[in-house]
Amino acid sequence: MNILTFDVEDWFHLLDHKSTKSEKVWLNYESRIHSNMERIYKILDNTNQKATFFCLGWVAKTYPEIIRKIIDKGHEIGSHSHLHQLVYEQTPEIFKKDLECSIKTIEDICGQKVIYYRAPGFSITKKNIWAFEIMHELGIKIDCSIFPSKRSHGGFPSFKNQEPVIVSYNGITLKELPINYYTILNKPIIYSGGGYFRLFPYYLINKWSKNSKYVMTYFHPRDFDKNQPIISDLSLARKFKSYVGLSGAATKLETWLNNDQFLDVSTADQKINWNEVPVVKL
Ligand SMILES: [Zn+2]
Repeated sequence: MNILTFDVEDWFHLLDHKSTKSEKVWLNYESRIHSNMERIYKILDNTNQKATFFCLGWVAKTYPEIIRKIIDKGHEIGSHSHLHQLVYEQTPEIFKKDLECSIKTIEDICGQKVIYYRAPGFSITKKNIWAFEIMHELGIKIDCSIFPSKRSHGGFPSFKNQEPVIVSYNGITLKELPINYYTILNKPIIYSGGGYFRLFPYYLINKWSKNSKYVMTYFHPRDFDKNQPIISDLSLARKFKSYVGLSGAATKLETWLNNDQFLDVSTADQKINWNEVPVVKL
């Protein structure tokens, strides 16, 4: 099972940069989200694939036509928070307010319930598992925020499952579709999204995914935008991760999507026998 998802944010929503902390400066930047979304639709049309788009509430508020077009094209919407802040830097109260705001903003535009969520930067860690209780309270049915490996932001290396699971926490349960990895010499190799996807050659991505029962992808509109402005005051490591392999990424994605069947989250949800998946008690 391969699941196709995109986190809908603009090129400047990089978590390492000081500008990402305040929405006040975002409108000063050139927006590239419309053309970058068009590129993605073209790839999905060419390959006849449907995807789930985790959208920032801020994007929905600023560019409601983006939400309407995703729905018009037959894809589905989840929340990627409202203001793209790291969950482990938020209090439960602030997290709740932000998620609630994104859900309401998106629902008001598309007229559908928002029941899927992915945290910015996969920032659900073992320190903020309280977030599951709030997601549950706000009507989220499936979370896609667990990154079961080390990561500069977030990551949950002690979460050993890289397959659909039920997460159980403080009396509530939630369906979880975590990111997967391929194991080489006992080391988890993430390859299905972001900088990792852009870095690894296609033949490895194809080989690793063919040998995996479950693949959860995570792309961003900027992952395929070779002309995006380069933010100069990033660390060298972050610069590499943010901008490596941009020029070949669209072709790579189209090739991958042509060679395999991908599902959106709701179709995956219907196919998974949730009575048989592991229950992970947090
Ligand atoms: Zn994001």
